[in-house]
Amino acid sequence: MTAAVRTTCPYCGVGCGLVAAPAANGTYELRGDPAHPANLGRVCSKGAALGETLGLDGRLLHPLIRGARASWSEALDAVAAGFTRTIAAHGPDSVAFYVSGQLLTEDYYVANKLMKGFIGSANIDTNSRLCMASAVAGYKRAFGADAVPNDYTDLEQAELIVLVGSNLAWCHPVLFQRVTAAKAANPKLKVVLVDPRRTQTADIADLHLQLRVGSDVVLFNGLLNYLRREDALDLEFLDAHTEGFGAALRCAKESAASIPSVASSCGLAEDDVLELYRWFARTPKTVTAFSQGVNQSTSGTDKVNAIVNVHLATGRIGKPGTGPFSLTGQPNAMGGREVGGLANQLAAHMDFSPENVDRVARFWGSPRVAARPGLKAVDMFEAVERSAIKAIWIMSTNPVVSMPDAERVRRALNACELVVVSDCVRDTDTTRCAHVLLPAAAWGEKSGTVTNSERRISRQRGFLPQAGESEPDWWIVAQVAKRMGFGAAFDYDGPAAIFREHARLSAFENGGARAFDIGAVASVSDAAYEDLQPFQWPRPAEAAAPRLFADGRFFTANRKAQLVPTPPRAPALTPSADYPLVLNTGRVRDHWHTMTRTGQSPRLSGHHAEPFVQLHALDAARFGLTIGDLAEVATAAARIVVRLEITDAVTPGQAFVPMHWGSVFASNARVCTLIPAAVDAISGQPELKAAPVRVRRYEPKWYGFALARAPLELPATSYRAASRGAGYWRYELAGDELPASWPEWADAVLGPKPKRIEFSDVAGGRYRGANVDGERLQACVFVATAKSLPSRNWLATLFAAQRLSDADRLAILAGRAPKGSLETGPVVCSCFAVGRSTLLRAIRGERLVSVEQIGNALNAGTNCGSCIPELKGLLAESAAASELRLVP
Ligand code: SF4
Repeated sequence: MTAAVRTTCPYCGVGCGLVAAPAANGTYELRGDPAHPANLGRVCSKGAALGETLGLDGRLLHPLIRGARASWSEALDAVAAGFTRTIAAHGPDSVAFYVSGQLLTEDYYVANKLMKGFIGSANIDTNSRLCMASAVAGYKRAFGADAVPNDYTDLEQAELIVLVGSNLAWCHPVLFQRVTAAKAANPKLKVVLVDPRRTQTADIADLHLQLRVGSDVVLFNGLLNYLRREDALDLEFLDAHTEGFGAALRCAKESAASIPSVASSCGLAEDDVLELYRWFARTPKTVTAFSQGVNQSTSGTDKVNAIVNVHLATGRIGKPGTGPFSLTGQPNAMGGREVGGLANQLAAHMDFSPENVDRVARFWGSPRVAARPGLKAVDMFEAVERSAIKAIWIMSTNPVVSMPDAERVRRALNACELVVVSDCVRDTDTTRCAHVLLPAAAWGEKSGTVTNSERRISRQRGFLPQAGESEPDWWIVAQVAKRMGFGAAFDYDGPAAIFREHARLSAFENGGARAFDIGAVASVSDAAYEDLQPFQWPRPAEAAAPRLFADGRFFTANRKAQLVPTPPRAPALTPSADYPLVLNTGRVRDHWHTMTRTGQSPRLSGHHAEPFVQLHALDAARFGLTIGDLAEVATAAARIVVRLEITDAVTPGQAFVPMHWGSVFASNARVCTLIPAAVDAISGQPELKAAPVRVRRYEPKWYGFALARAPLELPATSYRAASRGAGYWRYELAGDELPASWPEWADAVLGPKPKRIEFSDVAGGRYRGANVDGERLQACVFVATAKSLPSRNWLATLFAAQRLSDADRLAILAGRAPKGSLETGPVVCSCFAVGRSTLLRAIRGERLVSVEQIGNALNAGTNCGSCIPELKGLLAESAAASELRLVP
């Protein structure tokens, strides 16, 4: 049996260390690495369920050219020839790479080097453009470098944490756990949440400012103004280490003159605004942590600078427990920033100045290094649409789901002359557009480094053999580079060699001018690379680096930080009579990106089995919707159909739809088809959280669902949402057309029937059918013209049974769980598969009043802890109903 391997989680930007330990039957158990400084042994629900995503289901295992199996040699030749031919005919800017924060730094480095260094175009951009481009642009304007000034320990040393546009509880769960623990240990620590939604993060907030979408700049301009009025500035720091305060303050005064005007613009109570301002003014140890609610906006860069301004004005940067802290979404968004994976950066934190181009050209030994920025993501796909880009290579990402105006992206790719996709997954919305598919090694099979939100570089180590014919991304890119005639520059024998070159470039003619410098590891041996321990940059060769900005010196020409005037701007589109709701998008707790991995995990799929829209009860009533309805969410150009959730987590006027569902898991739920391609003029980051939409009740002719031991090939239906359970697949269905015969339709759904039990009530519009093979349930389908249908949870338990009892068979035909069966409800604790109904029964029946008591009774919340905010919510819900006293 192989030994346990220390590696890094492939999901969010927290970058938790994991230990992969061999378990029974060739499987692996993944647990938090107690020695990794990012998580100190903790994990969240996604990290805890990684073991369920390691199988080969759905993997791309060999190269394909136009759908036909090909050898590596044929596929690589086709890609190299296609790119070479296009460049020869139309120039280097006629090709592009669209890459990903899921790539390892070594993969990223090689892709960037090929495009910018040897093809001679800067048309390489990354899906991090959708994630943190505004933070990059804001930091560069303020500090002269894309340098996050914080460590995670700042969150524990702070006495005030302001979370802006950040659902820490679900998007950076281990940081949420760290903040929760810090709050328990330090009663002085206050948390303020600034977010239009009342997310699970509000659970730890002392104050929640549920501000109007897009009004963040006003709030922070008002704060700058208030700090000046209250004499709470650090004038010495401002004078010695910054420029631009006067202009920034003038702008703040004009746009946010008083607390009443701020409160009115932001839709907040004056007392709440004043409370935040007072706490901020009197708490030197303040961290403002921000995320996609800030970045994904047409004024994202200004939002970032409005936040940075108040930290510079108070000198709260470069000291423990202080700073404006961008929390990155992806596991290696930061690594991509370091190598130059964004189209507007050249390499190793260098831009396209003539000196930098010359320096990089000498380092890479290439005469054709790109001399100007390339096309950012939205512009890149528009260029594909215009046929200005004729060949594109998409690596480890799914833009047909995640890009704004996503249907246009699909159309553009379908019309493109050459689309190459390298991925570990066979079927995604984007692989469906590919001419050439290249099988990439998956997490668990590949080795390299990633950088997390606190600038910590960690090793990701392979512990599984590469599946099928898959290969690491760096190898695939290097092989194409060799076939394009650039062999000498891409002759790597492994990721360690690439890492050394990357580290050498970071230090090359640096001399302290560039923040990113890891020269100290430029000569690391293969063995030392294998054993590399997590470390933060900068790590120059000459001396140990002090804490970033501790000396008040920044990376601008005069070493002073810049305060930037930030005039507020409304989102690109605002609601109208026809489209009266503001659509916000984001993540759910247990899914990642477009579900290519988490969708394989039964544990993670039970929390939300369907795509949904959240509306406030007033809006639901206004638009004639009730609980359990299907809802059509639409713009003038597109529509999706998702399940309705009614909640006061959103205010009237807002709608929230998660970003995860593409065509593989749902028939029509790609929320980004509703998002216009409006971007921040500086960062190029799209506005993914402020699209005007309307919502209507969707009224199909019938509702239904199917459960099956193996995936089903379903006939076309107008609504389909698939999810994986333990030992079965679940399909929620609805249709606009009534079939001529339900039994015949059931034949098409359930496939060949070894033995069918069925009930058909034509007049009542009901059908129930189940395929039984021997004594075991294989698949079942239930249909009704009304939306009330039998419990899926009860039926799901039958897949674990060795034989169906007569009572079970009768219950299936009756469409009712046998007497005594208990409904479990949607999963709340995914680690122990404990559902909402089970929890509520226990809370009420056993009079449980604390999370600890729930843990003792049902185990829920005792492993990763990601469900604890929801457990508290259920306790509060029950207490409100029964007036039980809660243990705080
Ligand atoms: S918080 Fe969860 S998803 Fe993020 S890195 Fe840690 S274990 Fe992975």
